[in-house]
Amino acid sequence: MLNIPSQSFPAPSSQQRAASGGRSKVPLKQGRSLMDWIRLTKSGKDLTGLKGRLIEVTEEELKKHNKKDDCWICIRGFVYNVSPYMEYHPGGEDELMKAAGSDGTDLFDQVHRWVNYESMLKECLVGRMAVKPAVPKDYHEEKKVLNGMLPKSQVPDALAKEGPVSPSYDWFQTDSLVTIVIYTKQKDVNLDSVIVDHQYDSFRAETIIKDYSYLIHIVRVVANVGKIEIVLKKKENTSWECLGHPLENHNSLIPKKDTGLYYRKCQLISKEDATHDTKLFCLMLPPSTHLQVPIGQHVYLKLTITGTEIVKPYTPVSDSLLSEFKEPVIPNNKYIYFLIKIYPAGLFTPELDHLQIGDFVSVSNPEGNFKISQFQELEDLFLLAAGTGFTPMVKILNYALTNISTLRKVKLMFFNKTEDDIIWRSQLEKLAFKDKRFDVEFVLSKPTSEWNGKKGYISPGLLSEFLKRSLDKSKVLICICGPAPFTEQGMRMLHDLHFSKDEIHGFTA
Ligand code: FAD
Ligand code: NAD
Repeated sequence: MLNIPSQSFPAPSSQQRAASGGRSKVPLKQGRSLMDWIRLTKSGKDLTGLKGRLIEVTEEELKKHNKKDDCWICIRGFVYNVSPYMEYHPGGEDELMKAAGSDGTDLFDQVHRWVNYESMLKECLVGRMAVKPAVPKDYHEEKKVLNGMLPKSQVPDALAKEGPVSPSYDWFQTDSLVTIVIYTKQKDVNLDSVIVDHQYDSFRAETIIKDYSYLIHIVRVVANVGKIEIVLKKKENTSWECLGHPLENHNSLIPKKDTGLYYRKCQLISKEDATHDTKLFCLMLPPSTHLQVPIGQHVYLKLTITGTEIVKPYTPVSDSLLSEFKEPVIPNNKYIYFLIKIYPAGLFTPELDHLQIGDFVSVSNPEGNFKISQFQELEDLFLLAAGTGFTPMVKILNYALTNISTLRKVKLMFFNKTEDDIIWRSQLEKLAFKDKRFDVEFVLSKPTSEWNGKKGYISPGLLSEFLKRSLDKSKVLICICGPAPFTEQGMRMLHDLHFSKDEIHGFTA
């Protein structure tokens, strides 16, 4: 909602004009881009009208500020005067006004919960909502928590009925090791399900169980981690009386959509050209982090640009199409690779491109709704990618060709402007040569006169010719990703061609 640059942006013809997920954006006036907003926030201008004071805001007071030129909105207990931001909001003034004088947290979360509004709106902060003081937790309850029992108060009633059974944890130690065991009470938990971090003396183990997140969050010094049975190597061979002191949301099970994004700083290890404008970035995770981004999911990268935290989503890829194409696939937990197109007039990517080897960039936990179960018993896999919309297809392709025994055919139709824009063309051609199940076809929207291949934008004609089942009733999955208009038009065409919802996965987030 707040973090998309604009001015004459997106440019009238730009693919960025339609929002991901089909939301429409409004054209913004000249001088109202994200960069212009950052400049205004740095100008020293009093944006709240409170001359730098922070106040406690009652509900009655909040309700009064419900007009465009006097608009306060509460997000997660903090109240912002968003009137100065109105003209900079890519979703338009009307969207912001929906939350005028009220708590906009839900609306905000529905649209872009990953946007770092705290940083974007820090100069608009009016203060906190006035709340009753919380009852301090008594010591005994904390002790119980640390023995792995979830106090009733932390399990919302609705969740107790609808969500998974509450997990619990326990821990034990030897002279040199401490092992934390998380009892998820679910069968289908694998290495993708747990994310472990040790940063700034706090230890965090987040386990994703269906659409819920179970968190162990404590403060203690930790090294070496592994699996869901997390083994911590003691720095000194002393006996621990407890595991540590609970930190925010420790031992809580909450819907994943309600959790904030957690970031860790990763180091830039290498940067290589993939095309004239797209680069393969390799980031190294901190030594005490365990994080595997599930296939089809993305993470958010965060950089501070002229004092403001800017966040953009990117989809990790494998380091190449061919290296992982051998069995068994050894999970590489240390590095995350990204194929990122650098837009010279963009906000984030030029900054990313300017990073030196050894510099740091923050990487969030994964998000996304692609499910590996979509591959079950799959016979034909069709991938429709445009530009960097190729990125989710990389891991999908690697996984499918290596792991799905029922698979007969995988076809990629890759849409680009020119031949020079095709990412990993020679790797794709080599893969097609090596694996007879795989075929690739390139379609160019701005080809030179020498191009003999397919031309134009996505169309029903191209699709109906391309999407031929290997058998009459073979089980099919079609994945589609690219600029929002490409994905939206493509999905409509696929419905018109009578593919069912279950047979189509659109990367629209
Ligand atoms: P922006 O500032 O957003 O600009 C984008 C475009 O608009 C550029 O063409 C720029 O030149 C133009 N523009 C900017 N300002 C103006 C202006 N004032 N007037 C006219 N034109 C303007 N991208 C990847 O490369 N790799 C990925 O793996 C990847 N994964 C993604 C996953 C998801 C789920 C999503 C939603 C997007 C993903 N993207 C990916 C896109 C990425 O998130 C960014 O949108 C992209 O990198 C552009 O960011 P930017 O800040 O550099 O450019
Ligand atoms: P691009 O401008 O180079 O265009 C690539 C191709 O997309 C074009 O050749 C054309 O065939 C098609 N296309 C572009 N505009 C179109 C339109 N208006 N209608 C129909 N087809 C159109 O693409 P790019 O600069 O590489 O941008 C890639 C896009 O993919 C970005 O918008 C990015 O946000 C998105 N993306 C999304 C995800 C995700 O998971 N949701 C992942 C990666 C990239």
